[in-house]
Parts: sequence; C-alpha cells; structure tokens
Amino acid sequence: MKFILIFTFLIFSHSVAALELKGDITQGSLIIGKEDPNRIIFINNIKTKLSKDGFFVFAINYNQKGNIIIKSVDKNNQIETKSYKIKSRIFKTEKIDGLAENLVTPDEESLKQIKVEQKLIESALNENTDYIFFNLGFLKPVESARISGVYGSRRILNGQVRSPHLGVDFAAPKGTEVKASCDGYVSLVEDNFYYTGKTIILDHGQGVSTFYGHLSDIILIHKGDFVKKGQVIGKVGASGRATGPHLHFGVSVFETKVDPQLLLK
Ligand SMILES: [Zn+2]
Repeated sequence: MKFILIFTFLIFSHSVAALELKGDITQGSLIIGKEDPNRIIFINNIKTKLSKDGFFVFAINYNQKGNIIIKSVDKNNQIETKSYKIKSRIFKTEKIDGLAENLVTPDEESLKQIKVEQKLIESALNENTDYIFFNLGFLKPVESARISGVYGSRRILNGQVRSPHLGVDFAAPKGTEVKASCDGYVSLVEDNFYYTGKTIILDHGQGVSTFYGHLSDIILIHKGDFVKKGQVIGKVGASGRATGPHLHFGVSVFETKVDPQLLLK
C-alpha cells in the first residue's frame, strides 16, 4: 500500500512540473515557458536559459517555418520532446514612392555610421541577464496613439525592396509621453542614430528587450538605470529618418524581433 502511495505521488508530482507555455506558436510571437528548474531545455536544439524559478523565453521569427521542438532533459538524462507547428501569417506590403533618394539609399559615409550603430544595438540586444521582468507583461508605450506601421510589412521604397518593418509605429503629436513598457534596465541610450535618432533600449531579462526610436527627448535616464513599467522615459518625435512624429516600438528576444501587438493585447 505504502509503495502504491509513493508511486502515485511520483507520477503526480511529475505531471505538476510539466512544461507550460504562454503565447501563440505563430510567426512574430514571444513565448514564455515554465519548467522544473532542475531540467535543461533545448529549443530547436539550442540550449535555453532557465531562471531559478524555471522561467524561459524564446521568439519565433517573422519568416520562421516548420516546428518548434522543445526538448526537456532531466537529471537522469531522460528526454521529453514536444513539437509545435508554427502558424504562418500574411504580412502587408507597403509601397512608398516619391521619397528623397538619400532616405532610400544612404551614402557611403552614412553606411559606415549605420554599421557602428548596428553593433551597439546588437550588443545591447544580446545582453543575457537573469531578470524575469518580462513576466510582468507589456504596456502600450504611448497612450491614444494611432498605429501607422505594423509588424512584418514588406517595404518597397521608390520601387526598391527594403528589409521588413519589424516593430510597430505609434503616430502621436511631437512631445507625447513615451512610457517604459515593462520594468527593466536601460541597456542603450543614444542621441543621434542614423535611422532612429534619439533611441532607448530596455533590458527585461533573459534576452528580452524593448526599443524606442525617433524620440524628441529622453527623460533623465542613463545606461544602467532601472526604470519602472509606466515610467515616462521620453517624448515622441521624428528624430533620425522619419517622415513625421511617431514612436517606433520594438520587442525582441536577443536579435529576433517579435510583434509588439501580440503582446499589448
Ligand atoms: Zn517603425
């Protein structure tokens, strides 16, 4: 009898610790998972960090196809595998004609600057801290703004195909307050990026970042500062390459950009 009880408990405790996922398995999605922290997790064969409470996070790219395969390995090397089919989405195509040619194709000097800036962005996005602020959820960084650009849209500028737009644009009057979408640490503050002008990146832990571009003003924050979800960090502007005042808002897991609108619902 005692044996049966112990055996039942073992089965039961095993099933409570089962893998949990939050988020749609679709292109441009950010997924938060929870698993027994004593296990090791591989997502499509890449070892993924687990917080001490067992939280992990991963992103599905805008053009990713096939399956997400999660391998969970316990102390005795027993492997559990789960497979999820990635749902495809159809993204918009945006054609913008009549733009000044220097906005479409940067000159050599600007290309050099862009390269330097991309390295700074990459290094901020690749920070892999132990925080799990992403569990707090994300708020819309600009209240009552009109969405003027969506995630995933293919951009054809003056007839030339450019990289897809991997964030969301909130159009709002210059000076409108921009709030931190989640608790986090400032991992980048820059005054004059070629594309995004005054720019902020916040780190929410385990590779999750939010990006704020084209600001007219940055409010009293410096690299390394902690900011609270909802804290005003800047003001809407049109700095960098922008045709009008708006916030370019991005969410990413390391360098994979996800659709903010899937998170702000
Ligand atoms: Zn944008």
